[in-house]
Amino acid sequence: MKKKQNASTNDKPIVYVLSPSCQIEDLEIGSDYEGVITRVEKYGFFVSLSKSVYGLLRTRNPKEKVGDKIVVKIAEIKPHKGKMDVDLGYSKTKYGNDYEKITVKRNVKRTKISDLSEDNLGRNIAIQGEIIQIQQTSGPTIFTVRDETDVTWAAAFNEPGVRMYPELEVDDVVEILGEISLHSGKIQIESESIEKLDEDDENNLRELIEESINQKAEPKDTSVMIEESEVLQKLRPKLAKAAKTIRRAILDGRSILVRHHADADGICAGVAVEQAVLPLLREESNDADAEWHFFKRSPSKAPFYELEDVVKDLSYALEDQERHGQKLPLLVLLDNGSTEEDVAALSHAKVYGIESIVVDHHYPGEVENGRSLIDNYVDIHVNPYLVGGDSQLTAGALAVELAGMINPDVRSEIRHFPGIAAVGDHAECSEVDRYLEIAAEEGYSRDDLDKVATCVDFEAYFLRFMNGRGVMNTILGLEDKERQEELLNVLMKESDKRIETQLKAAMPNVQTEYFDNGIQLNRLDVEKYAHKFTYPAPGKTTGYVHDKIVQEKGEDKPIMTLANGPDFAVIRATEVIKNDFDFNLNNVITKIQEEIPQAGADGGGHEVAGSLK
Ligand code: MN
Repeated sequence: MKKKQNASTNDKPIVYVLSPSCQIEDLEIGSDYEGVITRVEKYGFFVSLSKSVYGLLRTRNPKEKVGDKIVVKIAEIKPHKGKMDVDLGYSKTKYGNDYEKITVKRNVKRTKISDLSEDNLGRNIAIQGEIIQIQQTSGPTIFTVRDETDVTWAAAFNEPGVRMYPELEVDDVVEILGEISLHSGKIQIESESIEKLDEDDENNLRELIEESINQKAEPKDTSVMIEESEVLQKLRPKLAKAAKTIRRAILDGRSILVRHHADADGICAGVAVEQAVLPLLREESNDADAEWHFFKRSPSKAPFYELEDVVKDLSYALEDQERHGQKLPLLVLLDNGSTEEDVAALSHAKVYGIESIVVDHHYPGEVENGRSLIDNYVDIHVNPYLVGGDSQLTAGALAVELAGMINPDVRSEIRHFPGIAAVGDHAECSEVDRYLEIAAEEGYSRDDLDKVATCVDFEAYFLRFMNGRGVMNTILGLEDKERQEELLNVLMKESDKRIETQLKAAMPNVQTEYFDNGIQLNRLDVEKYAHKFTYPAPGKTTGYVHDKIVQEKGEDKPIMTLANGPDFAVIRATEVIKNDFDFNLNNVITKIQEEIPQAGADGGGHEVAGSLK
């Protein structure tokens, strides 16, 4: 028996109080206990000392009343008809309150969660751990609990649908007494009692948990696909940190919210991380729907995190917190999140203390000491510009490297993704060359990659704000290869037809000017000379017009295409314009903002590809 031996500092008598789960074994003969009178008879009254322990105090015609609190002495514990009877006697303190209370906890040796096994079904055990989620089902309340070894679930039954232990909250450290049982194939504790630990025990356990979770979250393999890439090597520590944060969120029972740009690059990035996270979620949760409850992936139309998106995301997150006892999510922005345009949304999320990771390759503005403006608003920022690289290393490639660190098992599944991302984003650099070789090893020629990228964009146009998980997985080659080919053919045919229709309307209306400095500028009014509200949208249409002209004139020529609508413009230019003419769309936008503040100019993207509103 364990009692807290807080030696009394005064002369007050000591009275013990059993915690609700205490059993007869926890009683000490001769000691005083506080209880409540539950039944009064002519021969005495019954006093309840815990949920299951009660005793009889024999006295003739007692004056005591049901519900009265009383202090009694344990006189004798003796077997009676196969059970143990507790005989009580009056204590000296009896009804007074002038005594020192000491709580007695049921003394069951703690079982570590990893030691719970099907071999011990039906056994009564005690576990201690931190509550990481509380779910109210239509039946019991389910507490997800972890200690330093593992996670398990405890069901608390009362009336179906009634929240048990309303005083307990996520993050509380508790002791759970109960029986080991099985629920849909997983171990679950049928709890008899759940109580908070006292402060010392709580702190000790918290420390153990922190240490072990931290270790478990550490990515095992942080290699990158292109070891010789200087930029990747420089970004590696940050990618590893991002991987650890994501693994940690899974272990902490926090949901992960991925937002990515709705183009081929962004979707490759989002799906790569999704492929890495989902298997870990299935492993770590007893909730069959964990992969839906704890992971969300949504495309963003703009190449930045919009206020419109963050407001939705925050509302859902706060609702989940309120309704399902979920912790606030970890926000992961891919191919999105690095620019000045992201500040509004990210500072909005920061108000709620939402942790965020950005993996992007859009121009982040001025870099100083490896930091840019957005570093003030996010926790981890991965961007090639921060280490002397540029947007040619795509977000898709970076996210594939990240995914491999989160879960090395997916590496072999997504090796061709950086190739798709590069072709989709028209990226060119030594890393891209290597990624294209790797994709070729996986059976994807450049043409194949182009097809996949085009089809991803085509589907994304129609999916709008849906993530299209199943269809995208097929297009990206994660599932049935035959079906992939069939689908690509169907979509390509449709996409080509629509692009052709757009080009037919646009090409004859392109106005070309030649500047003295040798630049060829093509202008197009997409409002007048392109079909509206159809695929390809103005941005893509400009891309196709530009590509067609560049194809004829040569990639090494300084060619710029500017398409404008009533309140927007889209710019595409060859790399020469950036390299030899020092052109950067983002700087142009900043200048316009300074010089014509009343225009409310906004936008951005890459140096030579982006939009202006
Ligand atoms: Mn991109």
